[in-house]
Amino acid sequence: MVLSVLVAAALAQNLPLPPLPYDYTSLEPHIDEATMRVHHMSHHQTYTDKLNGALAKLRADPEQKWLAKLGVDALLRRLDDISDEGIRKTVRNAGGGYVNHDVFFHSMSPTGGGTLEGDGLAGELVRTYGSVMRFKQAFTLAALEVFGSGWAWLVYDVRDKGLRITSTSNQDTPAMQEGMVPLLALDVWEHAYYIKHQSRRKDYIEAFWEVVNWLEVATRLEAAVDQAAQLEDKPEL
Ligand code: MN
Repeated sequence: MVLSVLVAAALAQNLPLPPLPYDYTSLEPHIDEATMRVHHMSHHQTYTDKLNGALAKLRADPEQKWLAKLGVDALLRRLDDISDEGIRKTVRNAGGGYVNHDVFFHSMSPTGGGTLEGDGLAGELVRTYGSVMRFKQAFTLAALEVFGSGWAWLVYDVRDKGLRITSTSNQDTPAMQEGMVPLLALDVWEHAYYIKHQSRRKDYIEAFWEVVNWLEVATRLEAAVDQAAQLEDKPEL
């Protein structure tokens, strides 16, 4: 009885698999249904389960349970505080996978793609890269150059208020670095494209641009700019 209550309490704290913001079929023909199903139902579920396992272990340790209360992004910036090497590794890989895939799946939309114009995001991209086309070329190159499994990113650096194209290996995430706000994520693990494109990563990246969710990127940029403005108001931070 007591045990079942404790188990229920522990399970209640488990993070759910973040739902996809669209149907598995709705990015067709650019991103295929079979890839979306296995990517979300299998890969993202596995990262979620393994992260929950690691969080449960942290919660069970009186010295470490404060870490489990931080939220995943904050925990990924405090990896050095996790004393157990195995738990630290799981949080890095599965916690990174958990947050990265949520940004990635929201980086695509059935109504995405198309031309990006106007102020806001388009204006920032033009200021930084010369044109939206040149941004897409630079981002594509960064994605092609990821060796092995990893990610390409557009991030906003809160400290110097600028856009950056960057890449990470495995499931490392820009969220591990203070002040880096992910705006756009592209998963270049082979599991993201192998079913449809085999090893042709370039074809997959071209398909990604057909569904890229500019509206989401613009919304994330606005939030990041607001965050930078708040930091400016509180210089002691
Ligand atoms: Mn993936």
